[in-house]
Amino acid sequence: MRPRLSALLDRLWEQALRTPQRFVVLSFAVASLLLLLIAAHGLTLLRDHEIQSLQQTQQLQVAGISSVLNVEAERLMSVRSFAEHQIRLQTGPHAVATDPPLQQAYNQRNQDLWMLPVPEGDAVLLGVGPRLLSGLAGFARRDRDLLPGLFVARGLSHLLSAEPPSPLVARRLLYVSTNGFFVAHPPVPATAAAATLQHVAGAGYLTMHTAAANPQRTLRWDMQAASDGSGDSALALSVPVYLNDVFRGVAITELSQPSLDQYLSRTSRPSVQSFLADIDGNLIAASAGSVRRGETLSMVLPPAWREATAAEMFRRGAGTMRFHDGSRIVFQRIGSTGLVLVDYFSATQMLWRVVSQLSASLAAAALSLGLLLWVTLRGFNQLFSHYLARGEALREMAETDALTGLANRREFESRFGIEYRHSLRERAPMSLLMIDIDRFKRINDHWGHASGDRVLRTLADVLRATLRTIDVPARIGGEEFAVLLPRTGLDEATRLAERLREVLGQTPCDPAADASDKGPIRFTVSIGVADAGADGTDGLDTMLMVADRRLYAAKNAGRNRVISDDCVPEPRPEVPAPMGG
Ligand code: GH3
Ligand code: MG
Ligand code: MG
Repeated sequence: MRPRLSALLDRLWEQALRTPQRFVVLSFAVASLLLLLIAAHGLTLLRDHEIQSLQQTQQLQVAGISSVLNVEAERLMSVRSFAEHQIRLQTGPHAVATDPPLQQAYNQRNQDLWMLPVPEGDAVLLGVGPRLLSGLAGFARRDRDLLPGLFVARGLSHLLSAEPPSPLVARRLLYVSTNGFFVAHPPVPATAAAATLQHVAGAGYLTMHTAAANPQRTLRWDMQAASDGSGDSALALSVPVYLNDVFRGVAITELSQPSLDQYLSRTSRPSVQSFLADIDGNLIAASAGSVRRGETLSMVLPPAWREATAAEMFRRGAGTMRFHDGSRIVFQRIGSTGLVLVDYFSATQMLWRVVSQLSASLAAAALSLGLLLWVTLRGFNQLFSHYLARGEALREMAETDALTGLANRREFESRFGIEYRHSLRERAPMSLLMIDIDRFKRINDHWGHASGDRVLRTLADVLRATLRTIDVPARIGGEEFAVLLPRTGLDEATRLAERLREVLGQTPCDPAADASDKGPIRFTVSIGVADAGADGTDGLDTMLMVADRRLYAAKNAGRNRVISDDCVPEPRPEVPAPMGG
């Protein structure tokens, strides 16, 4: 396993060295992928953190709302105990004597509209006569109870004028007597007295608190139209006031819905929609502020939320829910009020919030990675082109003969090795030529060494021009050349050698400048041909030896010849020594 792995690593490394640019780009791609994974992980962590912080914000909101509701509920309770206590006193033996304003109000009791000035705050005490009272559910004039009732209501006015618990939430406090009068803060204009009592009757405040309807005399709350005739809704809390088991009136707090909406929108986070709902999912308020009476959670939340009933939220008390469209809610029940606060955000809203927090660091990382890639690629490019060029030059120097540009002996040996193995594998023939210039010494002597070099270059040019691309010509000695002929049998090699000999014999070479007066150089070559396989030869040394032997035979036979066998040829008179002309 291990050797295989190290072989794989070696191969990869080799590949990397061969294509460094691709390797660098790949490395950066891997780095970017890692960065993306880290970013994705970061997004998840941030999202969880965001949800947690939403829950914390919601806890603060819940604390705020429940303190407002609790303070209001306690105020209603204290209004009730004060009222019940005072009524008991006023109907007992220690009743305080009637004063002139009270008597005057009492005297006007049968007028359509009458009032009693109140000493404290700006609450107002207004009453209507029997004509307007008749038909209003829950109201019934009892003259006997009217004076003590008015006395108590006037005393209540300072309680009702107290500041609301939160400046953000607008509310109206009312004490309404079944006897047809009420105290309100903020005050109701006298002209609206009858309408206010009609509203109280219509909303059922009196009927819902009769002994039969509310035997426990508990505090009730529900959504009502506001009593100020504004058309707004209000969250109304109400408690009954009794004396000696006689239902005498009701204390009411109305928390205006627009101000609850405002409270939610001011305390909620941007991009989160907050809703205040009751156990049946009826909306009390919304941070977007567009809630209408009768709207429910499932009407304002996307369809994915239909199953998220408020009841389920009440059962769990607090938590989060995720729906199949990726949106979430964070919810919390508000104490024992029967209300729940729901924060909704869609998947994209959450993603956007989280990405906007992470985007600066992501962008910085992506930018630095891109910059680093660019710098590295540039550096790599320059460095590698430099070293590749140098390597290439060195390789060429090591493989080529400087004078002729042909392969040198070392390269020839290496190419021979490759072709020889190939010929064995393919059972293909292979031949080799040994070429030697005839009487080269004389050329050197007559034209000079520089011209001799030119002859060597001319010979190399002719080899390159005449041979096939698969052939490998090489200079393997001073003026000795060898040609490797892959996939070539002895006959074809001999024909090729003959052609070479002929062409060379007809290719004069211009002498060097120092011998330009001596005319062009004509020269001939002798060639020995050997082939692998056919005559059982094996390897370069053997083939070179055979070719050399035949070359020697060619020389002996008079030069300017090709010999491809070992029969001793007839010597023939040597062609005159190559000379100018
Ligand atoms: P033969 O026909 O028998 O081959 O006669 P030859 O004169 O060519 O004899 P030989 O092949 O032994 O000659 C080799 C000569 O080649 C010796 C040397 O002066 C010359 N020589 C070797 N290398 C170079 C070279 O790089 N440049 C030049 N100008 N001459 C070289
Ligand atoms: Mg020689
Ligand atoms: Mg020679």
